[in-house]
This record gives sequence, structure tokens and C-alpha cells, in this order.
Amino acid sequence: MSSSPFPDYPDQCGWTALLPPRTPKPPATGEITAKYAVVGAGYTGVAAARRLAELDPSAEIIVLEATTAGEGSAARNSGFVSPRDIPASTSAADLQHAAALNRFGEEGFDWLLALTARHGIDCDLQRTGRIKGAASEAGAAVVEGLRAGAAELGVPHEFLDTAAMEQRMGSRYYRCGLYTEEGYLLQPAALIQGLADALPSNVRLHENSPVQSLRKEGKWCLRTPDARIRADCVVMATNAAVKHFGYLRDRLVTIYTYAAITEAMSPDDAAHLGAMPNWGLLPAHRLGTTVRRVGADRLMVRSLYAYEKGIPPDQVRSALLGCFRRRYPALAHVGLEFIWGGTTALTMNGAPFWGPIDDGLYTSAGCNGAGIVKGTVLGKRLADLIAGQDSADEVRAAYGSANWVAPEPFRSIGFKVVSAVQRRKAGLEA
Ligand SMILES: Cc1cc2nc3c(=O)[nH]c(=O)nc-3n(C[C@H](O)[C@H](O)[C@H](O)COP(=O)(O)OP(=O)(O)OC[C@H]3O[C@@H](n4cnc5c(N)ncnc54)[C@H](O)[C@@H]3O)c2cc1C
Repeated sequence: MSSSPFPDYPDQCGWTALLPPRTPKPPATGEITAKYAVVGAGYTGVAAARRLAELDPSAEIIVLEATTAGEGSAARNSGFVSPRDIPASTSAADLQHAAALNRFGEEGFDWLLALTARHGIDCDLQRTGRIKGAASEAGAAVVEGLRAGAAELGVPHEFLDTAAMEQRMGSRYYRCGLYTEEGYLLQPAALIQGLADALPSNVRLHENSPVQSLRKEGKWCLRTPDARIRADCVVMATNAAVKHFGYLRDRLVTIYTYAAITEAMSPDDAAHLGAMPNWGLLPAHRLGTTVRRVGADRLMVRSLYAYEKGIPPDQVRSALLGCFRRRYPALAHVGLEFIWGGTTALTMNGAPFWGPIDDGLYTSAGCNGAGIVKGTVLGKRLADLIAGQDSADEVRAAYGSANWVAPEPFRSIGFKVVSAVQRRKAGLEA
């Protein structure tokens, strides 16, 4: 991906490749005037546009997407969603914080559920539960801590030893894991395409319409290769790419991460994927490898992190193949059919930036690696704020607000040091 104001994805996302081809909406052309312009058709953008349309049904709303719905990170992710998270501890502060976040999580998740039902969006959403897996001693300690927390909080869970892990997911790689019932898997490209195609009639989506410049000339003026759009109010739903327009450079860091889906396996090979028909594993360390089953006969792995610029494709391929083969040595002959990268936006304190960034210009950015539900609810609440239904205090009390990150070169140096330490700590979880 380049450092231009819009992303350019050199590889096709595997989730999109597995779907039937979709015809993108036509690019923006000519002179366009709208009350609202939303830049980016990921979860944040489609939620903000939908909610603005609900609250202001007579307004014209334009959504401008640089690529297509199904090529951005909204499709490139691993498809793990959950309305609720387990509190970090049983302290009153952690319980209160988790309860506040979970109220938003439930709101976003319920909205997605209602939309998928109303519009018949088949994104293979399944309640699979979730396994936190540990391959190392340090990881096992994390799992043990989670087990104690879940027991204390009365969260239904099951501790899995190596044999139980192998029985469920077919791999002897893990020392142990913690299974919790809360957790869903979905096909992310199917979800974002479905949401984009079901936008209300007063929302006009233009794909392949990268916004190249943004200026205030009375109204906001946005330029794409073939159009000039004038809008009273703009929502930058571009996640970290908002930095290219001069905003939040001291708050957001762009992180590249990578995923692959194997080729379809024969029934004999697929028998190595365990007894559970559908499962997803998150690593015990945050720089570890995510693994999930995809349908009956494929597997997805997600791993690797890079700061502000991508990793060469041959390195990505060999690293992801290594992740897969270490976990499934009996499947060493199975190849990776799709390999792709995507970006997420990290903030120093893990909180998003949400709200106005200029006069009539708003953003919600800084997903910190998990934004299907969070992007949806924060996009929806941003539209509420724009339409005068102010819930800013409630949002900020739950999520906090992205704090300052050191400028370059300190930022790169800091990131390199922290990630080297964390990579060492991640060890076998990677
Ligand atoms: C490999 C990977 C795995 C992940 N796994 C998970 C997971 O399992 N669960 C989860 O919840 N999250 C996961 N995430 C994170 C999740 O994908 C993001 O949090 C989510 O996509 C953020 O949504 P968003 O709408 O805020 O931003 P994005 O989805 O990034 O959408 C922003 C959109 O803006 C567009 N854009 C950018 N610049 C311009 C411009 N100049 N003009 C027009 N359009 C522009 C982009 O093309 C993009 O479509 C993962 C991410 C990656 C990369």
C-alpha cells in the first residue's frame, strides 16, 4: 500500500475471492452537492451513513469509497465478533468499565443482527464461542488468569488441555486453551458488501472514488479523480487514513497485518481440523497468531505486524505458511490459496478518537485491531452527534479518547523497541 491519501491494495482479499463477483456502484462524476459526505465504506462509514439517513430522511448523503466494498479492511479482517467482553478483573473499576463498553457492544451487535436479518445478508454469522489458545508457558499463565477471572465472574467457560485442544481443533500445538461461549464468527466480506448494498435510498454510494483532497471553501469541497463534491458536513470514516488529510497524526499509528486461507482440503485432510465444525482461536499474546476454520475444508491464519509500511509478499507467504505448518504438520502439503494484508489503526492508550476534528468535519478512528462491532456502533453514534443527539460524554466515558503519541523519529524507535520486546514475549504464540 502506498502513502497516497487513499489505500491501494496490491492483493485480493481471500474472503472477497470466495464470494460470487459483485458489481460495484459507479464512481462519482461531475459536480455533486450533498448535505453529508461520508468518506470510506467500512463499518464506521456505512453505519454513519445509514444512521444519518434514518435521522434526516430528506437529506442527500454521499458515501465515497476509494476501492470497493469488499477490498478494504472491513473485508480483510478475521471475522471475530462479540457483543460482550470479559472484564479484565473483578475490581469495581474493571467491572464498571466492561459494563459500559458492553452496552455499546450490544448496541452495535444487535444493530448488525437486525440489519442482516432485515436485508437477508448471508454472512455466515455463527455463535461458535471462542478459544483463547496458549502454546507457551507464558501463554498458559495468561489462560490460567482468564480461567480464574471467568470463574470468579460466573462466565461459562471450559478449560482445554492439549488433548482437548487437539480433539476440538485438530492441532497438538497448544498447551491449553480457554473456551468461552460468548463469541461469533462471520464472513467479513459478505457482511460489508451486504451492508453497503442495503444502504437506504437517500444514501448514494460511489465506489472506486478515492478522495484526493479535502478543503473548506465555505462548504467542504472533496475531490475525487472525476468529481467535485460539496457538502455541509463530512464524516471521515477512513480509520488511520485520516492522517493523510492532516488530522490526528499525533494520535494514530497505522499497523499492517496479514492473513491467508488455505486451498480447499480433501475430506481426509479436513479431518485434521478437529471435531468442532466451526471454531476460532485467538492467541494468548496480542502479537500472536489467530486461527479459524473456514467452512468444512479450509483454515485461515492471521499473523505478523508491521509499522506504517507493508512487508514484502515473499516474506509474508513464508511466515504465514510457517504459522500454518507449525500447527498442522500433517497438512504440510496443503497450500495457501489466498494471502492478503490489511491495515488497522492503533492508538497509544487503545482508545479511539471520536468526534469533531474541524468545523463540520467528524471522524471515528483508531479501531485498535477490532472494529466490526466497535466501528458500527461508533459510526452510528457519530451520526447521532452530528444530528444533535449528543451522547459524547457517554461514548467517551466508555471508550476514553486517543491520547498523544510521540512524533517521529521517537515514535518509530519506540514502536521498534516495544514490538521487538513483545515479539520475543509472543514466542510460540506467533
Ligand atoms: C487482517 C486483519 C484482521 C482483523 N481481524 C478483526 C476481527 O477478527 N474482528 C474485528 O472486529 N476486527 C478485526 N480487524 C479490524 C477491522 O477490520 C477494522 O477495525 C475495521 O475494518 C475498521 O472499520 P472502519 O470502517 O473504521 O475502517 P476500515 O474498514 O479501514 O474502512 C475505511 C475505508 O475507508 C476507505 N478509504 C481510506 N481512504 C480513503 C479515501 N481517501 N477516499 C475514499 N475512501 C477511503 C478505505 O478503502 C476503507 O474501505 C482486523 C483487521 C485486519 C487488517
